[in-house]
Amino acid sequence: MSMNDLLTIALSKGRIFKETLPLLAQAGIEPVDDPETSRKLILDTNQADIKLVIIRATDVPTYVEYGAADVGVAGKDVLMEHGGNGLYEPVDLGIAKCRLMVAGPENPHNERRRLRIATKFVNSTRQYYADRREQVEIIKLYGSMELAPLVGLADLIVDVVDTGNTLKANGLVPLEHIADISSRLVVNKAAMKMKHERINRLIAQLRAACGSQ
Ligand code: AMP
Repeated sequence: MSMNDLLTIALSKGRIFKETLPLLAQAGIEPVDDPETSRKLILDTNQADIKLVIIRATDVPTYVEYGAADVGVAGKDVLMEHGGNGLYEPVDLGIAKCRLMVAGPENPHNERRRLRIATKFVNSTRQYYADRREQVEIIKLYGSMELAPLVGLADLIVDVVDTGNTLKANGLVPLEHIADISSRLVVNKAAMKMKHERINRLIAQLRAACGSQ
């Protein structure tokens, strides 16, 4: 088998993996190992020409952009941050749904001239406030954004919200909706040409599996 026959699919552990697995199964693709228990980063599947690579969610667009994986599954939040260079986004899988929101205390009292926003979604946040012609100061964090307003690091946060329970548990409320988020199939542009038939089959199978057109 040459490299051209091999299809590599990039996935992240956790929610995306769990929710993508049944869709892949409907496309006839099943991993041989369980990534939650295996330490392997490259998983064989029941199809000799398809491998899964298990990587950090934020790294999926990078692997696919550079062709280290032919296709991948990534949240729209991650894709918006990445910018989508070199990627096609042919299928909204409709999984891992949530919303990208501005959140903060119910009655924010801001004595600063400029609002301070803590987030790991720096690019999306910058774009959102630039579109609104609002000057804000953005503070990059890597996690636990909800803490920032509680300890005076920031006035507001930008984060993904699902049930809103995490915000509520920290005395915060969702304030502004930035974008609806779900996971997408992304495809490397060169692979789309080189492995046209194989990838188109996968796209059609995944569209059928998730009920999209
Ligand atoms: P929530 O249900 O709003 O309490 O969500 C709990 C936490 O899980 C949030 O703070 C997010 O960081 C994270 N989260 C929820 N939904 C998603 C998703 N679809 N993708 C990635 N992270 C999520």
